[in-house]
Amino acid sequence: MRLALGEARAAGDEGEVPVGCVIVRDGQVIGRGHNRTEALCDPTAHAEMVAISAAATTIGNWRLTGATVYCTVEPCLMCTGALVLARPDRVVCGAADPKFGCLGSVYDVAADNRFNHRFEVRTGVLTGESAELLQGFFRARRNRDDVNVSKSGTAVLAAEER
Ligand SMILES: [Zn+2]
Repeated sequence: MRLALGEARAAGDEGEVPVGCVIVRDGQVIGRGHNRTEALCDPTAHAEMVAISAAATTIGNWRLTGATVYCTVEPCLMCTGALVLARPDRVVCGAADPKFGCLGSVYDVAADNRFNHRFEVRTGVLTGESAELLQGFFRARRNRDDVNVSKSGTAVLAAEER
């Protein structure tokens, strides 16, 4: 998760919402990524999607069997869908996302046994650091843009901007 937080910081440094993802298998990092939706002008360029593609390329197999996926923020519907397709063993998440999160917040993809693949989920890992990155990013953006943004919560702000 520390490496995923590093990816999140890289996203923030690039002016992207600071979300990162790292995928590990057999003790090796096989994929990593951070949010690049602005740079690529692509709503699908979430950290998890970038990392999943990178991991599949690294191992030469789209099935990420045996892998653990570390996400600094609870993944959205698109990314949890991609995770079901990629078939990792475990997904570990940082901050919850009450607006878009689909591993327990808006919906719980992992608990829906109608899907053909289920993975173990662990939430609440290094949540404080993940949330602080998001808070800092949106605080800076509010100050810069002088926009009246909702103060109802970091994750909500993150969700609005993702
Ligand atoms: Zn996503």
